[in-house]
Amino acid sequence: MPDIIKELPEHVANLIAAGEVVQRPASVVKELLENSSDAGAKKITVEFSDGGMTFLRVSDDGCGMSPNDARTAFLRHATSKIALEEDLDRIVTMGFRGEALASIAAVSRIDLITRERGSIEGTAVSIEGGTVTGFSPAGCPEGTTVVVRDLFFNTPARMKYVKKDATEAAAIVAAVQEQAVAHTDTAYRLLRDGREVFATSGGGDLKAAIYDVFGRDFASSLTEVKGDFSGIILTGYITRPTASRGSRSAQHFIVNRRPVRSRLLSAAAEEGCKTRIPAGRFPGCVICLEMKPTAVDVNVHPAKLEVKFSSERDAFDAVYFAVMSAMSLDEGRPELLFRGSRKPEYAPRDNKGGNTAFHAMTIDEYRAMLDKIDRDKTRSPGGARDRDGSGANMLSLRPPAARAPQGADGGGAALFHPDTSADAVPGQAAQQAPPARGGLAEQAKVIGEALKTYIIVEQEDGLLLIDKHAAHERILFERLKADKTAPMSQMLLSPEVARFSPKEAQALISSLDLLRAAGFDAEDFGGDSLIVRAIPACLDSGDAQAVLQEIAGDLLGGKGELAAQKHEKLLYRVACRAAVKAGRSSDIRELNALAYEVLSRDDIRYCPHGRPVAISISKSSLDRQFGR
Ligand code: ADP
Ligand code: MG
Repeated sequence: MPDIIKELPEHVANLIAAGEVVQRPASVVKELLENSSDAGAKKITVEFSDGGMTFLRVSDDGCGMSPNDARTAFLRHATSKIALEEDLDRIVTMGFRGEALASIAAVSRIDLITRERGSIEGTAVSIEGGTVTGFSPAGCPEGTTVVVRDLFFNTPARMKYVKKDATEAAAIVAAVQEQAVAHTDTAYRLLRDGREVFATSGGGDLKAAIYDVFGRDFASSLTEVKGDFSGIILTGYITRPTASRGSRSAQHFIVNRRPVRSRLLSAAAEEGCKTRIPAGRFPGCVICLEMKPTAVDVNVHPAKLEVKFSSERDAFDAVYFAVMSAMSLDEGRPELLFRGSRKPEYAPRDNKGGNTAFHAMTIDEYRAMLDKIDRDKTRSPGGARDRDGSGANMLSLRPPAARAPQGADGGGAALFHPDTSADAVPGQAAQQAPPARGGLAEQAKVIGEALKTYIIVEQEDGLLLIDKHAAHERILFERLKADKTAPMSQMLLSPEVARFSPKEAQALISSLDLLRAAGFDAEDFGGDSLIVRAIPACLDSGDAQAVLQEIAGDLLGGKGELAAQKHEKLLYRVACRAAVKAGRSSDIRELNALAYEVLSRDDIRYCPHGRPVAISISKSSLDRQFGR
């Protein structure tokens, strides 16, 4: 029998490789742009027509190629970037596989014109379906221009997968956009059918590039994200919670200047702002990570679109913590502005210096703090409350000065209850007569309650509608979080046996420490049940079974989460259940207390699920509507 294994002819191998590297016009653009970047280009122009299938041109002012290189560049595995196996560990260029030009050439008609820097003459090469059809000296500017025509003209099967022009054009635009924000020091210009889609300045500023590339609306909806964490330097921007989106399409991650898709990084960013964005909505972002080349493997995907981190946990944490801290710092409370310069006296907004306030913390400090709190909580449930100094500050995101002096007296006309201690919260005991607080009382007045759900507040310059339940939930959540020790528990009059499904019981039993840290005292009672002796003080005694059931659901849904994340989720379950329900009318003191906290604190902007706590209607917009 004759041998049946044959070596594939070069052009067949190229066609196969082309199937992996070149799937659509946008993949051609991406490869050509990477080559231009690698060639050190500072100015790159991309032009295309008809969705890129008939005509695509990328010109750069990079280093260019010698006549010989211009020919070899089209050979498979021809690359100037890697010579040795070890080089694979230190890839800093965008390309390295030496497949792109060969693959593109195999399925299109290419004209390449290139002139090496400093040489007097350039070279023109033409290739059709992988065969060189022209090679000659040419007069041209320094740099390289590649024109790709009639993509897939010789592979009709592939042509069938190409979508309509508008779709392919959108993919090309997206590919150029990503490169432009990944390489802010290069000026990109994109033309579609002769018309400019966008252009960047190449000035090196990420925010400016985002503005040029994605437009003003997106740029102005962003807040900065920064971090330096386990060797990962993170910079970028993320949408404020109010600008969340219906899909992940505005999430951009750039690792060592390479735009990548990463479910891991998306999950980390989403997790970091989860308590501020409603379920089913997503943040948009441009987040750049810089790390040692050895910490990330870019050679896991033929089109180098995916990367593998040597430590996924570090990559996740870097993004998660940076986003979380960006969210706490963001001041974008929707339209909730006060006239003049009045700021809550405890808001350390301009504290850029020392690290006593959360605002100045680095990611590492933040994480260390969370870990420590985790440990403290599990170690000393119900232990002595630490009310001193900086520790409490950092966790609560607000210094203890937030607590207004008890009994301060400003003369009867007070409208808000300034006491933010547990007692002042609706649904709990002891409602004292509200002492006054000049500034707020003058500026805002609770008018009443609408639809048993919204508190109407009149301010100097308009109205504020506060969602009672959302506000209360957030207040409780922040309070629970702010407690360094476990929240106050209440002993149940008689211990309650709560029953669960086997899975739920298992989840709860393996998290008894976490439960304890949140104010529960429960133990395995056998037969998929728990005996509950105490629950957080803010809950109704009848709530035990229901809230534990919800917590079990969260635990089951959140496998692999950090202890700190689980803890936070658990607290917002408790907060949610304890919060006054919309649909039950509240007395005026309750309304006052809630309104007071919303107006006087900076951390009460969204409920723990991310719904806004308050919206404001300005007097001018009312006037406009009434034609005044
Ligand atoms: P890779 O980028 O993986 O090395 P390519 O097939 O994309 O492989 O390119 C092959 C080689 O051609 C590159 O290594 C580079 O030396 C050269 N080259 C391609 N495009 C350009 C360009 N725009 N400017 C200068 N050199 C280029
Ligand atoms: Mg390349």
